[in-house]
Amino acid sequence: MKKSYGVIGLGRFGGSICKELSKEGMEVLALDSDEDKVNEYKEIASDAVIANSTDELALKELGFRNIDHVIVAIGDNIHASILTTLLLRELGVKRITVKAQNDYHQKILEKIGADEIVHPERDMGRRIAHSIISSNVLDYLELSDEYSVVEIKAGEKMKGKTLADLDIRARFGCNVVAIKHGKDINVSPMADETISYEDVLIIIGADKDISRFEKELVVDDD
Ligand code: ATP
Repeated sequence: MKKSYGVIGLGRFGGSICKELSKEGMEVLALDSDEDKVNEYKEIASDAVIANSTDELALKELGFRNIDHVIVAIGDNIHASILTTLLLRELGVKRITVKAQNDYHQKILEKIGADEIVHPERDMGRRIAHSIISSNVLDYLELSDEYSVVEIKAGEKMKGKTLADLDIRARFGCNVVAIKHGKDINVSPMADETISYEDVLIIIGADKDISRFEKELVVDDD
C-alpha cells in the first residue's frame, strides 16, 4: 500500500519537503495555521488544511493517526514543535521527523521519542563551509558528532596514484569506501586502484582525521 505523509509547518523547509514528496507522487497532508501558506499548497499536496497542530482534537479529526510518516517543520515556536511531536507520538504515528532549532530542542525531542531529528540550516552551513575551504569537497555529510562522510574530487595531488601509494588509512585513519569514475562506481576499491584527476572519492572517518586529510591531499583547483 502507498505510504502516506503529513507535513506540519509550511515554511521554506516544510514547504520544500511537501513539494518534493508531492512531485514524487506521494500522498501528502499539509497543515499550517496560516491560511495564506495553506492556500499556496492546496494545488500541490493531496490535501492542505488550516489548523493548529497543538490542538489534539484537530489532529485526531484530521486522521493523523493513520499517516505513516509525519514531518514537523515548525521552526521558531519550539514549544509548539515539542507539543505537536508529543501529540503525534500519543496518537500512534509510526514515524516522526522533526526539525530542531538548537541542541536544547534536540534533547527534548529525543526524550519524547522523535524518530529522526534534523538540523537543515546547521548541516547545510557545515557542508557549504567545507566546499568553501576547497572547491574539490563536493559534499559533506555528518554521521554523528564525531564522524562524517565526504565526497572529494581527486584533483592534482591524487591523480595517477594508487590507494596504496596514498596510504590514506594508515596516514589519516580515514577509509575510502567508494570511487566514482564518471558514471561507474567502485564500492570497496582495492589498494591497487589508480586514481584519475576527475575521479570522486567517498571517504568516511572521524572529523579530525578528515580535516587532516583535506589539508594534506585536497588542494583547491580554483
Ligand atoms: P523556514 O526556515 O522553514 O521557512 P522557520 O524555521 O522560520 O521556517 P516558522 O516560520 O517559524 O519556521 O514556522 C514554519 C511554519 O510553521 C509557518 O508557516 C507557521 O505558520 C507554521 N506553524 C507554526 N506553529 C504552528 C502550529 N502550532 N500549527 C500549525 N502550523 C504552525
